[in-house]
Amino acid sequence: MDLKRIILDLMPGSLVRTFAAPYVAGKGVASGVAKADELHTRLGIHSTVDLLAEEVFRREDVEATVQVYLRMVEALKGRPYASISIKPTSLGINESEAYCQDNMRRIVTAAAAHGMHITLDMEDRNFTDVTLRMFKAIRNEFDNFGIVLQSRLFRTGEDIKALHTKPCKVRICIGIYKEPADVALQDKADMKDKLFEYVQLLLDHGHYPEIATHDEPLIRRCIAHLDKHGVAKDAYEFQMLLGVPRTEIQQEIVKRGQIIRLYVPFAEEWKYAVHYLKRRLGANPAMAGMVLKNLFGK
Ligand SMILES: Cc1cc2nc3c(=O)[nH]c(=O)nc-3n(C[C@H](O)[C@H](O)[C@H](O)COP(=O)(O)OP(=O)(O)OC[C@H]3O[C@@H](n4cnc5c(N)ncnc54)[C@H](O)[C@@H]3O)c2cc1C
Repeated sequence: MDLKRIILDLMPGSLVRTFAAPYVAGKGVASGVAKADELHTRLGIHSTVDLLAEEVFRREDVEATVQVYLRMVEALKGRPYASISIKPTSLGINESEAYCQDNMRRIVTAAAAHGMHITLDMEDRNFTDVTLRMFKAIRNEFDNFGIVLQSRLFRTGEDIKALHTKPCKVRICIGIYKEPADVALQDKADMKDKLFEYVQLLLDHGHYPEIATHDEPLIRRCIAHLDKHGVAKDAYEFQMLLGVPRTEIQQEIVKRGQIIRLYVPFAEEWKYAVHYLKRRLGANPAMAGMVLKNLFGK
């Protein structure tokens, strides 16, 4: 076990919670709804609301997670500026693909009744195949379902080409999970060049890219390229995480008449937020430095 991992494991929950504060809407479904409303009313910003759940193994815990998502759909309905993000490891993939797919379908069905979009987050490479399979099966039945692809993975170009014949909303990001050199790029600049390339590839295949990055030069590069090629401003959007300080560029995007959507996580129990954040910090310890910088200035 490396030193960073040990430090993370020893870090008290209260400290992790301090780290997490800017990134988490609060406790309970109502906090996610309130944050989505506030962002839209105050700043014209859209949201994708997510429940922070520890990897769930027991059926009763999976069912409890599904029930929270169904409550979220009810609580967020009538808000065209709000969507929901879900994860296979919270919805039963540890038991079986069929069970997880069934749980996802329940959430997508409930959301479809209100014209609400659901995004299927992408986890580490061990889940890529199964996540794509479940996505495609449900996407066959519903239009309100999108997915995430990670530009660091070598496979992503082929995954885009094989995604779906129906146009889909696809969040394209570099990917939070460190992956080995035999399956993924190791250099961040290369991952970002690929992200830029995949935005065009997604458009070429009729999809709607959701460009998820905080890298301002990359955002400007995408805007310049897409404007130059006359791509309609409603053919794609930008996404960032709640808490990452990017007010200026977010407002620039709003003024361009485009969607900027923040990922708005909330916790049912703080202990789950702590587990989630520790995992994320473990997957990408550079994040800890970024959070510190945000908290304590340069
Ligand atoms: C809306 C959204 C959804 C996502 N969904 C997924 C997903 O489903 N699966 C997945 O693997 N990954 C997901 N990610 C994470 C993503 O893959 C990247 O790991 C993350 O966005 C950092 O990459 P970057 O392009 O912003 O570039 P970076 O070079 O990492 O960041 C650029 C700059 O942004 C700031 N910054 C970036 N991240 C943070 C942070 N967490 N805290 C503080 N400052 C920060 C820093 O100043 C940094 O220098 C998502 C990201 C976003 C924005």
